[in-house]
Amino acid sequence: MAQPNETRPAGAGSGLIAASKTSVAQHEPSAWLRGAVAKRVRQINAAVADVKAFGAIVAPLGRTGPPGSRADRECDRCGRYVPCGDLLYLFAFAATPRIHLAGGLCGRCEATEVGR
Ligand SMILES: [Zn+2]
Repeated sequence: MAQPNETRPAGAGSGLIAASKTSVAQHEPSAWLRGAVAKRVRQINAAVADVKAFGAIVAPLGRTGPPGSRADRECDRCGRYVPCGDLLYLFAFAATPRIHLAGGLCGRCEATEVGR
């Protein structure tokens, strides 16, 4: 019986599972996003002895900090700080069946990601 490939890189067919009202979720991931996801999945697979022991692992895509902190509101793509009151476009990406990554983009990077 075929097993899900836990190390499959993100790409078309892998899933963004939630998003802000604009929708990173409805677009094919960019080369940047595929690369960032693949890097994070490699890190998780290296840090967790048996990913299959978990129902799911939810992790940040990039750097983060305590909720509301400056690091928590930095764009995962360009690193720009998004001040409170400006929209940080949050999304989740199902990188593998068990590894889901959450990220945030500034308006400019979100527009780039969805091809606007
Ligand atoms: Zn950005």
